[in-house]
Amino acid sequence: MSLPSIAASGSPGAAAPGAGFIAADPCVHCGFCLPTCASYRVLATEMDSPRGRIHALKAIDAGELVLDATVAKHFDSCLGCFACVTACPAGVRYDQLIETMRPRLNAPELRSPAQRVFRRLIFALLPYPQRLRALLAPLRAYAGTPLQALARRSGLTRLFGPQVAAMEKLLPPLPEQAFRDDWPVLVPARGPRRRRVGLVLGCVQRVFEPGVNAAAIRVLAANGIEVVIPPDQGCCGAMTHHQGELAQTRELATALMSSFEAVIGPGKAAGPEPLEALLVAASGCGHTMKSYGEILGSRHPLLGRVADIQEFLDEVGLSDSFQAALRPLPHGDGTAASAERPLELAYHDACHQLHGQGLAAQPRRLLGRIPHVRIREATEAGVCCGSAGIYNLMQPEEAAELGRIKAADLSGTGAALAVSANIGCTLQIRQAMEGQARPLPVLHPIELLDRSYGGPA
Ligand code: SF4
Ligand code: SF4
Repeated sequence: MSLPSIAASGSPGAAAPGAGFIAADPCVHCGFCLPTCASYRVLATEMDSPRGRIHALKAIDAGELVLDATVAKHFDSCLGCFACVTACPAGVRYDQLIETMRPRLNAPELRSPAQRVFRRLIFALLPYPQRLRALLAPLRAYAGTPLQALARRSGLTRLFGPQVAAMEKLLPPLPEQAFRDDWPVLVPARGPRRRRVGLVLGCVQRVFEPGVNAAAIRVLAANGIEVVIPPDQGCCGAMTHHQGELAQTRELATALMSSFEAVIGPGKAAGPEPLEALLVAASGCGHTMKSYGEILGSRHPLLGRVADIQEFLDEVGLSDSFQAALRPLPHGDGTAASAERPLELAYHDACHQLHGQGLAAQPRRLLGRIPHVRIREATEAGVCCGSAGIYNLMQPEEAAELGRIKAADLSGTGAALAVSANIGCTLQIRQAMEGQARPLPVLHPIELLDRSYGGPA
């Protein structure tokens, strides 16, 4: 088995290089990246395109342009989706350029006091599941109820400002499961053990979409894969990493690694054997975790290898018994999919999965193992949905427009279901689907595999 190592040097997500890199970049200003650029799509100005930002970076580097609040706004409008990296024929590593820039954008004078307060609030809340749960607990009687629908229809939520309204729009129903992490430290493989892995639950995913981790654990165990789940694990640092908050990212990444150290070893709860892989079912997290070598300045011996759960399952293969037990999924009318009437799915490529990790075939192959499933391709699969970490909270109008475009594209495939492997995208697309004439439910691919295996619908 040759799983990918922690972010190979030079891969998307690798650490930003030092001075001189900007001046040496090979951008030839061809503009091939522009049609794929989400910010250019909605703002339509050169300064909000990769080519424009590269030009500005060079000018700042050369002392010809001052990085003030106006210039910073054009960098903040970048979603960090890396579609431009995939599109560029000259091999420009815009991902590395923008990563160099992000920490500089956090200088206090470049943002208004209100922006600074909102960002502090987000970074003090979202990466900490227990804090988030404490805030959300009183909202259980509101989220997903007719009251929420009424508040949205009446425009009441907009009274609190566009950013609070954007947060509210993403709020899903909150089942009891969202408020607890009661997984055993060690979930044994069912049948003969084939592999031993660690599972990262994600901070937002475990609260807003707890069914995904439940499905992941069932699917892994059913495939003969033992799963180690440290009870004290927190956020992987993806959210802060994407925003250039490097000190907090290191702190979160170190704490996550320590939570695995606390349970793996002689006499510890998960036993002494090392992990063969560290898996995560949220592609934004996987992208950052593959950069841990650079973020932490060393390879952590406990890490084993980081992999997206779909990448891992595709590589090791489904067990014979699991594959044999897969059953066709039902259509909306309850009838099972069949060769004559397959269940059609529109796969949403999360940017940090497609552009950040180069994973496109793996999730499709995995879904293709479910009997009578057919994948319908969106016409603009490589363009960002507008979620982009906390972009949809910081820049709600642009994000909403991108969400509308993505939802229309997925719905326009004619598929019955949309599939997304990143929690941020899932929440964003679900919300945007509400405005579609043909709204599609949005599920994680692992949930579909689990359901096909007989897991709860
Ligand atoms: S970044 Fe690449 S695609 Fe975009 S203008 Fe420069 S060379 Fe062309
Ligand atoms: S990362 Fe995405 S939003 Fe930013 S310049 Fe590249 S394509 Fe545009």
